Amino acid sequence: MKALVKYGQGPNMVELRDAPVPLVRPGTVLLEVKAAAVCGWDIEMWRHRMANPVTVPVVQGHEFCGVIAELGAGVTNWKKGDRIACETSALVCGKCFLCRQGDYQLCPDRKGFGYGVDGAFTRYVVVRAEILHALPPGLPYAEAALTEPFCVVHHALVDRITVKAGDRAVVIGPGPIGLIALQMAKLQGASRTLLVGTQGNQRRLQLAAEQGWADSTIMADHDETAAAVREFTGGQGADIVVDCAGNSAALLAALASVRRGGQIVKIGWGPKPFEHSLDELLRKSAALVGTFGHNWHNWESVLRLLTAKRLSAGPLISAVLPLSQWRQAFEMMESRKAIKVVLVPEE
Ligand SMILES: [Zn+2]
Ligand SMILES: [Zn+2]
Repeated sequence: MKALVKYGQGPNMVELRDAPVPLVRPGTVLLEVKAAAVCGWDIEMWRHRMANPVTVPVVQGHEFCGVIAELGAGVTNWKKGDRIACETSALVCGKCFLCRQGDYQLCPDRKGFGYGVDGAFTRYVVVRAEILHALPPGLPYAEAALTEPFCVVHHALVDRITVKAGDRAVVIGPGPIGLIALQMAKLQGASRTLLVGTQGNQRRLQLAAEQGWADSTIMADHDETAAAVREFTGGQGADIVVDCAGNSAALLAALASVRRGGQIVKIGWGPKPFEHSLDELLRKSAALVGTFGHNWHNWESVLRLLTAKRLSAGPLISAVLPLSQWRQAFEMMESRKAIKVVLVPEE
């Protein structure tokens, strides 16, 4: 089978290679990948700008779904042909206090698909039976492949902060995560949402407005954001700010935009240091919350919400391409011509 492999610790060291079909082990299943979405992390790995280390060689791809092709010994609650979505925590220890209390995404020994363990930009991948979720009938594979980024946002906005009905939410950064955050905030009862983007994001701002995800959009320099947010909230500041951009300017804008006693949740990664005072956070008695990953209930909830069309993945998919056109897919995402591209492995 063909597999998209990052083979070295340097930029552009990614290529399609022949790889053997992996062997199913006890407690795992062999999954035939039907669709795998390209994530910003995949681009960062390709260009070798990752916020976290990766082991090489490794098959990339962590946002995926498929059909069970083979069951390992001891797997009794699934059968061949089941359509499933799969979490990204490929390996966890299962013994530490975080694993035991259900926060296994924070396990210090966690290894994720696509950078710690071979991932899904290929035809077959071996996965633990514990992290499978049944795909509801009617949810197409391409959309189901986007379950993972929706779970990132579900965990951030449902588990990590409290969004109250009537809140005014500001989302900084109109990438896929930002566009999902708008949807999630609305679903939780935010009365109004504002999306902040910078130059080059016009089409995404437009999409968010057309879809009704954002009530207002601005293309603002981060300095201008606070003034725009004050206007948007009648001078009060935002109840919730979701930082999906990850750079210093975005966090500074979030600090300036949040209301006294409000909450900032930071989803976007950014390896550069933050060289500003955090006194504003104290002055406002605001919360700044980090978030990582997702766990079991996020997956079950998101799959139900996607199926019920309370959340929508379709408009985020700019193209579905065969795996052989991975380079084109990565370039489309890097140049922001695409929001999400889904890859389909070939026979
Ligand atoms: Zn991802
Ligand atoms: Zn653990």
